Amino acid sequence: DRSLAEIDPAIAGLVRQEAERQAHGLELIASENFVSRAVLEAVGSVLTNKYAEGYPGKRYYGGCEVVDEVEQLAIDRAKQLFGAEHANVQPHSGSGANMAAYFAVAKPGDKILALDLNAGGHLTHGAKPNFSGKLFDVISYGLTPDEIIDYDAVDRLAQEHRPKVIVVGASAYPRIIDFQRFRKAADACGAVMLVDMAHIAGLVATGLHPSPVPLAELVTSTTHKTLRGPRGGLILCKEAYAKTLNSQIFPGIQGGPLEHVIAGKAVAFLEALRPDFKAYQQRIVDNAQALAKGLVSAGLRLVSGGTDNHLMLVDLRPKRTTGNVAEVALGKAGITVNKNMIPNDPEKPMVTSGIRIGTPAVSTRGMGAPEMVEIAGLIGEALDAPEDDAHLARIRGRVLELARRFPLYGLP
Ligand code: PLP
Repeated sequence: DRSLAEIDPAIAGLVRQEAERQAHGLELIASENFVSRAVLEAVGSVLTNKYAEGYPGKRYYGGCEVVDEVEQLAIDRAKQLFGAEHANVQPHSGSGANMAAYFAVAKPGDKILALDLNAGGHLTHGAKPNFSGKLFDVISYGLTPDEIIDYDAVDRLAQEHRPKVIVVGASAYPRIIDFQRFRKAADACGAVMLVDMAHIAGLVATGLHPSPVPLAELVTSTTHKTLRGPRGGLILCKEAYAKTLNSQIFPGIQGGPLEHVIAGKAVAFLEALRPDFKAYQQRIVDNAQALAKGLVSAGLRLVSGGTDNHLMLVDLRPKRTTGNVAEVALGKAGITVNKNMIPNDPEKPMVTSGIRIGTPAVSTRGMGAPEMVEIAGLIGEALDAPEDDAHLARIRGRVLELARRFPLYGLP
């Protein structure tokens, strides 16, 4: 049996190159993280060979005794971690998890009330080009002038439109979400409450963000963001929804589950149940505070004035630059971020006036407050002359030096 490098040097070389890119730069994309070696091993295992349509104990294929145990461990650990009545660990992605959750409680044409994409919502929360925007009658809520979720508008729109589902959760929202307020709004109009906690799942698991699990009928998540598992999805729900929900994943929208990824999820849930995971999540939040303070000192404005969680939205207008320019400039300096619309953004989505920055990945490397101050300074300097390549190359050198002090996957 020949190795990857022997069979396909092109792909082997690119894997190596990507590992070096990750190790030698500063990863500040709020939705990314570095999984443990244990998770990598599980995902790269022979479990990828197995078909297992169905659920543990009720499969449409033979030979599932072992993967049944894998999937049951993942389910049990997810339930324990979040205090959930039921868990489905099969969604291939967060988008798939949301699709199945919608289908469990709504039909095409039904009304859903969700956070506007431009206010921090996800594509699957009713954006026009997404399946959710095509299939459902979408009503959106947004933010107040203080850039906080407009809870009064949620109450008003829920009363006026009586949606089937109220969707809660975001991809770019830096503040605590008041799930109790949404529960009240849903109860007042008879809607189902669907919380997409993809970004904050790690914080929820450790009590650093209030949990939606006791309050919402359905909770979806990805497993690869703050939760630090492999790329994939997860759905938690009340027992009353378990059967329909399961049938919406399989046979509803998926065939065979990815048991190697489910094994990786099981490992990540085990890691998240350990006390040191709480310390890790606390570091993410503390680092976000330190980075936010540093960015303000560097002359930038933060949407809503700061952050309560793992991410912040930076308004670049004080530096007279735009999101697309900043993303490229910081990339040249070895700092990875993504451009992002800010509330009432005057620029188009491919330009934007903002960038989104998160601390989960740098916190995984062991960086702390002193490094956040350093990173904020580097970002500020880069954005002072975002089109000066020599200037950015000098910053790149300092980024490499900082990255090497916190090695990743044993790479020098
Ligand atoms: N939900 C939220 C809130 C997200 O931020 C994301 C991804 O960024 C998703 C769902 C979708 O996850 P995936 O990219 O795995 O489809």
